[in-house]
Amino acid sequence: MSDVNTSLTAQPGHCYVVATPIGNLSDLSERARSILASASVIASEDTRTTGALLHRYGLHRPLVAYHEHNELEAADMLVARLAAGESVAVVSDAGTPGLSDPGFRVVRACRRRGLPVVPVPGPCAAIAVLSASGLPTNAFFFAGFLPHKTAARRTFLEKHRAVEHTLCLYESTHRIEAFVAEIAEVLGAARVVCLAKEVTKLHETFLVGPVGEVEARFAPMSKKGEFVVLIAPDGFVL
Ligand code: SAM
Repeated sequence: MSDVNTSLTAQPGHCYVVATPIGNLSDLSERARSILASASVIASEDTRTTGALLHRYGLHRPLVAYHEHNELEAADMLVARLAAGESVAVVSDAGTPGLSDPGFRVVRACRRRGLPVVPVPGPCAAIAVLSASGLPTNAFFFAGFLPHKTAARRTFLEKHRAVEHTLCLYESTHRIEAFVAEIAEVLGAARVVCLAKEVTKLHETFLVGPVGEVEARFAPMSKKGEFVVLIAPDGFVL
């Protein structure tokens, strides 16, 4: 292991990709906290969200905003600061930056310039749900958010009907009910799924089983929250 990986202090010229909690603020790792405490600047998807996390840990570091609308310009600015010897910690609102989140362009800009990028791993909604689902995890296909249009979502399900790996998807509160119904219609009521909501939070819920049963159990529940949906390979029995 190099000094960079053992040091708890952000090193000059290094870009750190720092995973932050997906709900439970106690899930910030010691290393993540130390890197955030010592970075010259924290590049944040939303400075209010990151500000709340820093406040919780009594940290005071300069924040710059980067998000999907300014990520290219922000990446240029961050690369210039790194090249000048500053250290940068990249965080998103929750979880691992770059995973269905901004962060990719900043990291790519660093790689193109040959600047060191160091992961500081930690929470990720997809991995958390896979780990506790009981569905096959040796191989999985992470597809992030599906398109909003019903036809495109159905096409995705049809296309992946026979995939041999567990499918892992993110879904918003607005479309979750319709999506569960679509899975049952397109893949059949017996297909095993895991519907996980508000993971690591007060109202954490896991519904695991044939999608027909999950749909019925989910019907009376609140649809508010953040969801991960796993779809087991065809023929899998819990
Ligand atoms: N980069 C993040 C990660 O590593 O998980 C994901 C960011 S993505 C913009 C946000 C989506 O992740 C939400 O819409 C939801 O699908 C999922 N998600 C995030 N936090 C979650 C949680 N606590 N419980 C369930 N799903 C969550």
